[in-house]
Amino acid sequence: MTLRIDESRVREEVRRLRQESDDPVCAYVYDIDALRTHVRAMREALPAGCELYYAAKANADAPVLAAIAPWVDGFEAASGGELRWLRAHQPGKPLLFGGPGKLDADIRDAIAIPGCTLHVESLGELRRLAAIAHRTNRTASVFLRMNIGVDGVGDTRLMMGGKPTPFGMDEADLPAALAILRETPRLTLEGFHFHLMSHQCDASIHLRLVNTYLDIVHRWQRDHGVAVTTVNAGGGFGVDYADPSRSFDWAAFCEGLGRLLAERDETLRLRFEPGRFVSVACGWYVMEVLDVKRSHGEWFAVAHGGTHHFRTPPAQGHDHPFVVWRGHGDVAVAHEKVTLVGQLCTPKDVLARRQPVDALAPGDCLAFPLAGAYAWNISHQNFLMHPPPRMLYLPPCDAAGVASRHDARCADVVPSKP
Ligand SMILES: *Cc1c(COP(=O)(O)O)cnc(C)c1O
Repeated sequence: MTLRIDESRVREEVRRLRQESDDPVCAYVYDIDALRTHVRAMREALPAGCELYYAAKANADAPVLAAIAPWVDGFEAASGGELRWLRAHQPGKPLLFGGPGKLDADIRDAIAIPGCTLHVESLGELRRLAAIAHRTNRTASVFLRMNIGVDGVGDTRLMMGGKPTPFGMDEADLPAALAILRETPRLTLEGFHFHLMSHQCDASIHLRLVNTYLDIVHRWQRDHGVAVTTVNAGGGFGVDYADPSRSFDWAAFCEGLGRLLAERDETLRLRFEPGRFVSVACGWYVMEVLDVKRSHGEWFAVAHGGTHHFRTPPAQGHDHPFVVWRGHGDVAVAHEKVTLVGQLCTPKDVLARRQPVDALAPGDCLAFPLAGAYAWNISHQNFLMHPPPRMLYLPPCDAAGVASRHDARCADVVPSKP
């Protein structure tokens, strides 16, 4: 099982939108049902005894969280803002609170939340946490985030560990961290946290990595005389935007993981906290073509919206995949390579460069899939004061795949940035 992309329901919704209004389309459309199906399949593939959390920084929209919630053990917050947002929108769900640069106020909030686990990123942060627990007379569950080098697991495009980074502690700091914890009975060391990379597309390499984490944690337990219950192996399951079928193979990974845990007779619990791989496929960004023009011999399509709504292409440094949904306009360009741009007055506002298109005209829609994670919420929406996109959430389907509400309309909400 990897990522499935189905454009039919999203396309139907956009068609309806255009029948209703002459305004050029500029919208995010989220297929909440597809999200539910996907996260449920992820959950069901995971071996018993493994836990699944969702890293909310990928997309913390309330309807997205609500669809995911039944299939995960909890949510990971990477900032005080996310922590309070998750607390408000998913009350009662267990939370993990990680990330560098936690404020004292964030730490105070976190230790006041029942069932919140703190991921400690440095010795200094651990000392502050200990002092705050003492002052407020509270207890807390703690994971130490460790930045370790692991040989033979390759590099991905986005490495957070195994080299100098602001994330986690060096193994050399472990004795000092454990000494602080021994002196602070209010803090319970529950486990170790590793999130060394994002964009991992190779399931067998990732299995070896998880195996190494388990080995290392057993060694630390022996060497330092500590006992923990859980290893958080992070997120980072990769998405191949150009060819989604080559994304991380979750099913193969889970199968291998089941065998690995059985062979090891593993006593530690394993926890994962993916973001991108969970929510990326549920979202689409759709922009209507306003102008098709030629410049110095190359074709450009200028569409309603741009990277101030959808920063994913420049953030990833890639040409984002797209489909063209033809309108009724006369073909302006056919069988040419076209660069797809938005409305910003900067040459960086490019979503895909020199892409072959069969036919394109003003009034057509450019629909970008894989826009459900690290998309709207990483975008600089205020630049140039263009209005925000519409935010449309397709209604859930019943078991037969039929939209449950009578008119099958989307919920249209004011765009929010958590
Ligand atoms: C961002 C992040 C994740 C999620 O990463 P994905 O690549 O979206 O799966 C998980 N854990 C931590 C600590 C993170 O910072």
